[in-house]
Amino acid sequence: MAKTGAGKSVSDYDVIVIGSGIGGLTSAALLAKTGKSVLLLEAHDRPGGYAHGFKRKKYQFDSGVHLISGCGPEGYAGGQVIYKTLQALGLENEIEFISINPFSHAIYPGISLALPQNLDDFVQALAAQFPAQREGLKALTELCLQLAEEISIADELMAGINHQQGQALMPALFKYRKSTLAEVAAEFISDSKLLGVFASNWPYLGLPPRQVSFVYWSTMLIGYMVDGAYYCKGGFQQLANTLATGLQRYGGQIQYRSVVEKIVLQQGKVAGVMVKEQMITAPVVISNADIRQTIYKMVGEQYFPSRYLQRIKKMQHSLSIFVVYLATDLDLLAMNVAHESFCYADFDHDQNYQRTCQGEVSWLSITAPTLVDPSLAPAGQHLLMLTTLLPFDEPEHWKQTKQQTMDHMVALAAQSIPQLEKHIIFIEGGSPSTMRRYTGNYQGAAYGWDVIPAQVGPARIQNQSPVEGLFFSGHWTSPGGGVYGVSVSGVQAAQKILGIKKQSDFWQVLNSQDGKQSLFHHQILS
Ligand SMILES: Cc1cc2nc3c(=O)[nH]c(=O)nc-3n(C[C@H](O)[C@H](O)[C@H](O)COP(=O)(O)OP(=O)(O)OC[C@H]3O[C@@H](n4cnc5c(N)ncnc54)[C@H](O)[C@@H]3O)c2cc1C
Repeated sequence: MAKTGAGKSVSDYDVIVIGSGIGGLTSAALLAKTGKSVLLLEAHDRPGGYAHGFKRKKYQFDSGVHLISGCGPEGYAGGQVIYKTLQALGLENEIEFISINPFSHAIYPGISLALPQNLDDFVQALAAQFPAQREGLKALTELCLQLAEEISIADELMAGINHQQGQALMPALFKYRKSTLAEVAAEFISDSKLLGVFASNWPYLGLPPRQVSFVYWSTMLIGYMVDGAYYCKGGFQQLANTLATGLQRYGGQIQYRSVVEKIVLQQGKVAGVMVKEQMITAPVVISNADIRQTIYKMVGEQYFPSRYLQRIKKMQHSLSIFVVYLATDLDLLAMNVAHESFCYADFDHDQNYQRTCQGEVSWLSITAPTLVDPSLAPAGQHLLMLTTLLPFDEPEHWKQTKQQTMDHMVALAAQSIPQLEKHIIFIEGGSPSTMRRYTGNYQGAAYGWDVIPAQVGPARIQNQSPVEGLFFSGHWTSPGGGVYGVSVSGVQAAQKILGIKKQSDFWQVLNSQDGKQSLFHHQILS
């Protein structure tokens, strides 16, 4: 029998994970900790998916990620999932997160505002510009916190109660589960400019106020405001590397440059995968890869119920993204540039989104990671990432328009960073087709399925598929996109595989002296 890595037989894995995005890595490492033999197969030459980093000359760039939440030990009840994962793996002290406070700057014609962490400071900062709206703003922000806390315990509670009891225990979730941000915000604030400023971070979810789920918006906002916003020292590749270390520490294996071509089924159940014409067997496969690729290419649609396929066909995916990676010798610190600034010409984000959907670049985010981590570039230089959402197009389109898009984005950024054009030492662009090329995500979607109300919570594609032995983690499944969302998905997929309903029980199992023995105990008791 063929061998892989340190002599492990290829036919006796408990779990194979396809893809080392943060969702796949989280599931793989946590399952390894419980004693499962895990093999992770990754198409690229390094872990991370959209969270991977790359080096050019002496510059260490993030391919995409600017900021994440959930990596500190404290925050709202039920949050901190990345911290809990690293702690369960015994790695929380082997990685450094740098707190970013204020977590964003919002720049509009006539208004430039820092958005601080901490609920009271956030309300205070916005109310200073919109004093008549203070009470409504405070109530809206507190509702976001209530929702974030309710959502984090929803699965646990729903496991043992009926609809009526659920409504009593999670009133905000039941009331607002089908609402958009714009619908709920209108109950509390009436100034359209304030709504614009409040929603400045909408590109983090890829949808404007009139479309984005209020529930998902709340978890994102409260994540940054209460759990805390962080940059990862050394770049987000370090987060991926640390999770990969966790997987290997507990006996798991990773194979890079390994594209899974097929998920093999026998009698309707998962039996393994095909890589480089070799079959590797396992009764359980978690796909962290693009979900349509998984269903239609790797498994075959004939194995899925037709209602499930009809749902997949109707699902709406997120926009893609264009990033300009550049190095400059400008002294960004002296110029008061922030870690991340969202720059808009218009307060109306529904309009901004419409322009984006038509391929127009009218706004961008400017990130300057070297302000908090100078090790990413040589002394006296800074890195900038200029980011905007854009629809997908084929490589030929970008060959013709890439330079023009980059020039335009640099010119937009120069409105906030004067003289930028004259101080560029290095520049490169990543188009939507680059995003697809590196991750296989459909049309380079930045966040998987859109987080509209009809595609979140129970309405999202769940972590357990209808095919026996096939599970999903990542931004095409529950709960949704963003690094924090996919970390939660990784935990949920592992829980489903182990049959542990409550997340609190899951952490207890993982944090016991011997996760494996404790899991056995849990299974006997439940
Ligand atoms: C430019 C950009 C900026 C972003 N900024 C932020 C941010 O600041 N904060 C934030 O929280 N989120 C951000 N996001 C969103 C976030 O990065 C993603 O939602 C998240 O990282 C997706 O993780 P995932 O687990 O779904 O896997 P993905 O990152 O989608 O990775 C999937 C992995 O599977 C592998 N794979 C695919 N098919 C196969 C196959 N057949 N065989 C083997 N391997 C395969 C791919 O190579 C890839 O490594 C950003 C996204 C982009 C694109």
